[in-house]
Amino acid sequence: MRNDRTKRAESADKAKSESPTRESRAVELAQSGVSRRDFLGSCARTVGAVTVAGLTGVSWGAGGRLGAAPSAERTGGPEDTANGSESVNADRREHEARWYSRRANADVRCELCPRGCVIGVSERGACRVRENRGGTLYSLVYGRPAMIQADPVERAPFFHVQPGSRMLAVATAGCPLACSFCEVWDIALVDPEEIHSYDALPEAVVEQAVSIGAGAVSYAFGEPIAFSEYVLDTARLARKRGLLNLLHTSGYFAEQPLGEILEYIDAVNIDLKAFDGELYRRYVGGDLEPVLRTMRAIRAAGVHLEITNLVIPTVNDAPSDVRTMCRWIRDELGPDVPVHFARFYPLYKLANLPPTPVKSLDTARRIALEEGLEHVYVARVTGHEGENTFCPACGSTVINRLGFVIEEMNITDGACAACGRRIGGLWA
Ligand code: SF4
Repeated sequence: MRNDRTKRAESADKAKSESPTRESRAVELAQSGVSRRDFLGSCARTVGAVTVAGLTGVSWGAGGRLGAAPSAERTGGPEDTANGSESVNADRREHEARWYSRRANADVRCELCPRGCVIGVSERGACRVRENRGGTLYSLVYGRPAMIQADPVERAPFFHVQPGSRMLAVATAGCPLACSFCEVWDIALVDPEEIHSYDALPEAVVEQAVSIGAGAVSYAFGEPIAFSEYVLDTARLARKRGLLNLLHTSGYFAEQPLGEILEYIDAVNIDLKAFDGELYRRYVGGDLEPVLRTMRAIRAAGVHLEITNLVIPTVNDAPSDVRTMCRWIRDELGPDVPVHFARFYPLYKLANLPPTPVKSLDTARRIALEEGLEHVYVARVTGHEGENTFCPACGSTVINRLGFVIEEMNITDGACAACGRRIGGLWA
């Protein structure tokens, strides 16, 4: 499996460098099927996650297609009627970007993320999904998810948000970063024309979430920054329908769009990929400081925050670095912010590294607890004690998990059933 994944990644890179037609590239990717989705999908199937195909029996059209109306030429935003068909290389929708400014010579400056790309006419930003057409910046992925599927909320991972409930997750192509260990390279690091996508305007996503009984819409698996306008419009509608909005992101937002989006977001999981500026630049392709700023802003906005730290052998697993990171989280964000130490599996450009030894995850968890963090989890080691939620006051097991499955809940009105200590999160 590991070798297959590596070969697929290399094959995809090689094919891209040889500049095939977009059609052949898209078909290749659509058919390749080796990705984190497959890897995680095999886990999800064991707990009843529902993929696109699995939704056909609920309310998706034949062949897993969403809706039945012909595809629209142009979308005007959330007031448009949901339409549908799945397509590869369909004409991109034109949806004007929300956060940009015009400059001389019809150039534009994108103001969505800290990169601040200045984009000439007919060019795209670094994230691949924002294009300057005649001096107007467009999102190329609005209403065009490359992935839409139902999952347990624990998969995000959110361990303090309605445990045991389901979310409908959406993701599109594009990302402003370029992680060497990207787990969704076949979604995030491709052009929108190079990947299979669905037509699913915000109304359609929300209707689907309601129809399958999901408690939330999750913007995850790719990088939601790349489809921020789609996130914003979908989140507005989802909130009106009583759904939670969950964001799993690198946090590489500029301040203004982050503030606007947070108004409609109930919980955020930030991928804190490294806690060293030089490492962040080398392995992630961006600056660490905007991510730290984002996490402070989330807390200041009163939005529930969880953090995932992928522990990569020899890259970011030094105990001293883990301790420094945990102290910062405790002092700047608060000891009650849940932290998930996730196991790395070799893939993409770090396929030469081994999986994270469990003892490294144990060490990270021990350090975090020593530094006073109250809820420290180990992810992707099924059966590990670190899957459970413990009361910081009395030590009782508040939530007992096996993988994504909730085996026991001892929480009453957001408090430990044994001692009454409040546990931060969204429990109702
Ligand atoms: S969102 Fe994309 S186009 Fe905009 S600044 Fe970031 S990388 Fe550049």
